[in-house]
Amino acid sequence: MHQPAITDLAAADPEIAGLVEQEAKRQYEKIRLIASENYVSTAVLEATGTVLTNKYSEGYAGKRYYEGQQVIDPVENLAIERAKAVFGVEHANVQPYSGSPANLAVYLAFLQPGETVMGMALPAGGHLTHGWNVSATGKWFRSVAYGVRKDTGQVDLDEVRDLALAERPKVIWCGGTAIPRTIDYPGFAAIAQEVGAVLAADIAHIAGLIAGGAHPSPVGHAPVITTTTHKTLRGPRGAMILSDAEHAKALDRAVFPGLQGGPHNHTTAAIAVALGEASKPEFSTYAHAIVANAKALAEALVERGFDLVTGGTDNHLILIDLTNKGIAGKPAAKALDRAGIELNYNSVPFDPRKPFDPSGLRLGTGAITTRGLGTDQMVKVAEWIDQVVQAENNGDEAAIERIAGEIRDLLGNYPMPGWR
Ligand SMILES: *Cc1c(COP(=O)(O)O)cnc(C)c1O
Repeated sequence: MHQPAITDLAAADPEIAGLVEQEAKRQYEKIRLIASENYVSTAVLEATGTVLTNKYSEGYAGKRYYEGQQVIDPVENLAIERAKAVFGVEHANVQPYSGSPANLAVYLAFLQPGETVMGMALPAGGHLTHGWNVSATGKWFRSVAYGVRKDTGQVDLDEVRDLALAERPKVIWCGGTAIPRTIDYPGFAAIAQEVGAVLAADIAHIAGLIAGGAHPSPVGHAPVITTTTHKTLRGPRGAMILSDAEHAKALDRAVFPGLQGGPHNHTTAAIAVALGEASKPEFSTYAHAIVANAKALAEALVERGFDLVTGGTDNHLILIDLTNKGIAGKPAAKALDRAGIELNYNSVPFDPRKPFDPSGLRLGTGAITTRGLGTDQMVKVAEWIDQVVQAENNGDEAAIERIAGEIRDLLGNYPMPGWR
């Protein structure tokens, strides 16, 4: 049963309630390795399901365009103060609806349409909103992209510097969605300073690791930091922009009234709850366990002959190039899902295949670490992944079904917040 219980929903709308229950059970029975997902606490779930969703509060605390903010102002101020304390920043805006709008606000704050932005190419591990051509950020701004080196799979800061000197971007993004290695914030900051660009660090994936001290912080190097709140940070769907005092006003104005109307106050409350959790010592234990699990899983995969981009990981994320296994990413991901291992197919750097049918798989250990799995289980997970890939290559559906059962048995020992 879903926790907290959804009895009124079940009475009013059995169809939706039934689907919610099915999804909770599905999350309970799967090894969830999608690198951008997690399990939020029941406290975060409860905060998102409150009457705060009924309230409009355009503006910022003390300067709202609607009356009745006696309670909302302290909620938002708590979220802001906790964000500042957890990340050690001078300013926080907790209103962006999600990561993509948070990044758009950075463009609105510091660029005119047609001006130059530089970010990591999507196929190399960047995000759509870092100027990729199909995104508004690539259509409305002049975008130049850096990639990774073919021999290392990693960013080459000399190449980034050469490109920045030639193209003179006003904003430089660092960070992305498929980067298995530590980001060199001081290195990016030196380049941004040399060309007079604003360095924006997008820490969406690794915010929880940074909060828990398991990845270096961009604070002091990047004056502007954007993040989602729902990946390793383990909060509700939402986002924040963190900054120094100098850039605060332009960012606040860009979020409201530049891009958004009323903030989602139930989400703000849940962000505050998640940040409260992130300030506890247990969260640091969790963040370090994510990295330990990823390293253990990477090592066990390498032992089984899997080819990892960059050869391993420093964070929560692993990128597998399946070419040597004789299977593409999509059929492998679909077979793994049938076996109870949920992940996504992903392009690898210099992928000869199409983005919708790429060569790789992306894995992350945030959710399974929340679930309580440890490094011992990672060896077993690697074994299952290997067996499923072989079973799919041999058309052995019975083996896939057997593994799904074994995984359900294992996960019976690891409770999930949100389902009982
Ligand atoms: C997930 C992600 C985003 C976008 O977040 P949404 O909430 O999906 O809009 C932006 N940047 C990076 C690096 C991300 O990983």
